[in-house]
Amino acid sequence: MKRRPLVAGNWKMNGTIQEARQLVEGILRASRKLAEVEIVLFPPFTALAEVRDRIQGSPLLLGAQNMHWEEKGAYTGEVSGGMLKELGCRYVIIGHSERRALFGETDESVQKKISAVFRTGLSPILCVGETLQQREANQTWKVIERQLEIGLDKAKAADSMNRLVIAYEPVWAIGTGRNATPAQAQEVHALIRSWLDKRFGKTEADSIRIQYGGSVKPDNAAELMSQADVDGALVGGASLDTTSFTAIAEAAALQRKGASCSTD
Ligand code: PEP
Repeated sequence: MKRRPLVAGNWKMNGTIQEARQLVEGILRASRKLAEVEIVLFPPFTALAEVRDRIQGSPLLLGAQNMHWEEKGAYTGEVSGGMLKELGCRYVIIGHSERRALFGETDESVQKKISAVFRTGLSPILCVGETLQQREANQTWKVIERQLEIGLDKAKAADSMNRLVIAYEPVWAIGTGRNATPAQAQEVHALIRSWLDKRFGKTEADSIRIQYGGSVKPDNAAELMSQADVDGALVGGASLDTTSFTAIAEAAALQRKGASCSTD
């Protein structure tokens, strides 16, 4: 049985409050017909309250793109899980490759953040993925295994692991227009699921969703999400266009419908 797909829109540092309002309106209209998919919007911090107000009473959920591991204190410029929860967030993206590459995020800081997300009662989307150089040196799995091992070192079954989401995001595919092929994505997703099985047991591994991210567009979404272990998409660029983002969510809904018909 396929897991309920999760389609997430990572707006990155885009969207004034006015732009956020417009984006949400279009997505809201489409989302009411997409019950098969969980759709989560990740606006910048400054638009969280606006988006929360707009999606109230709808199936859309809210998430944040990052958080600090401490609850409060002298951490200028940072935001805590409790603050995000108070704002209505349900998900937090942790360890996005842009944060790793541009802001010095490490597997160790990712680990602290993952623990804090669980502690706060939020759901983490842990991003993992290799660079092109690492893929070409046949180090893809070695890199991802290390990111999982350190990132999830402190996670335990008691954390309700079904709240965990993993996003496989090959760095070479992010924002480049060059997506992983469905077969490349499935290969890594299957390895991640078998790692989760060894680490947390089969029941948890079967329930944890593994999203693919990296140049997902309406024309490649269906094929990527038709793969057995691809449970939705983390979408960057295309999430800033209502038509594209809703088409991706619709593709996920169709996959889900198809999968449940074939298991009926
Ligand atoms: C991302 O930033 O997580 C991402 C997948 O971006 P894009 O869809 O633009 O490649």
